[in-house]
Amino acid sequence: MRVTKLDTYFLSIPLPQPVRTSTNTIRQVSEVIVKLTTDSGLVGIGEGHGPFLFNQGPAGMQAVNEIIQRITPLVVGEDPFNSERIWQDIFALTYRAVRGIPPLARQQRQLVTALSAIDIALWDLKGKAVERPVYALLGGALRDKIPAYATGFYYRDHEQPADLEREAALYMEKGYRTMKVKVGGLTPKADAERVRFIRQCVGDDMALMLDANQGWDLPTAIEAAQRCEASNIFWLEDPMPWYDERHTLRRLKAATSIPLAAGETEYSPFGLRTLLMEGLVDYVIIDSTWAGGLTTWRKAAVMAEMQQIPMAAHHDPQIHVHALAASPTGFILESFADPSRDPLWFELFKERPEIVDGSMSLPEAPGFGLELREDTLEKYGVKIG
Ligand SMILES: [Mg+2]
Repeated sequence: MRVTKLDTYFLSIPLPQPVRTSTNTIRQVSEVIVKLTTDSGLVGIGEGHGPFLFNQGPAGMQAVNEIIQRITPLVVGEDPFNSERIWQDIFALTYRAVRGIPPLARQQRQLVTALSAIDIALWDLKGKAVERPVYALLGGALRDKIPAYATGFYYRDHEQPADLEREAALYMEKGYRTMKVKVGGLTPKADAERVRFIRQCVGDDMALMLDANQGWDLPTAIEAAQRCEASNIFWLEDPMPWYDERHTLRRLKAATSIPLAAGETEYSPFGLRTLLMEGLVDYVIIDSTWAGGLTTWRKAAVMAEMQQIPMAAHHDPQIHVHALAASPTGFILESFADPSRDPLWFELFKERPEIVDGSMSLPEAPGFGLELREDTLEKYGVKIG
């Protein structure tokens, strides 16, 4: 089996109402889709994301498109079972020329997004070729259901307590037992009061996570964490910016009893190594659509097992359900239960793996078991290459 064609699409859907984190206002959701056609007739599908795609329309995709055009010769003509070699070739372009293609050192992040979509499409093809789901290629499922949490409680304009109550009721109705709340957008005192109110709405049995989206400096993180401790917090995610994590996570860990989680903004296995091997986090969060696909995930899964650190996925449960099922310390998926936050999740696939009573069952179809809805591609997508 050889790859004969690489097609790229860019999808972008505006949100009905913008939502805020501590560091961003999200007005639309966007992603890159790579479709790999092969001489066997099988087609592999991969998805790529990245923070530089936030709020981008098709014009913002130009950089990724140019990169994909440049690296296509490293993929077309290849056997998808050579996915590790293809990964190594594309990753090497972050600093040097590969097979006549000049380095893309100044576009590392965009390059890794392109690599993520391509790598995921290759794993999809490998599964389809042997007619087994992707988790079977990763060593088989260690569990038959993966718990998922609902990410919500973003900051919205004119927020009223009744809005938070309604949101809590929506997730509870859907059977979630774990929910995540945005913090870092208000003063530590006001955030802690908002968290306490949400705790009252959901009762004592719900696991509550906090996500600061890297919005605090260390003193603010310490104050906010200590103020939130009384609300019985399951984890505190991304308290401070990525650039000084080694120092700040260690200091914060010593100052609070709340377990820490981070990793979603890493975009290489080496960044994840620092978090894992230095014991900086209690939970590691990985997004294979940002960080180099399942090939990166697989490298991190070995380190997480050795360090006994539970693995959590950032976004895209339809992809990560396979990765978490096969990882020895695989733990939990992230999901959006509110269509107004992630219309793509609700509209992109012909059959969507459902989250029932707070967990996702393993798909049985070959590859990732996903088929794109052509009408959604046409409505929100642009073929860019
Ligand atoms: Mg996060």
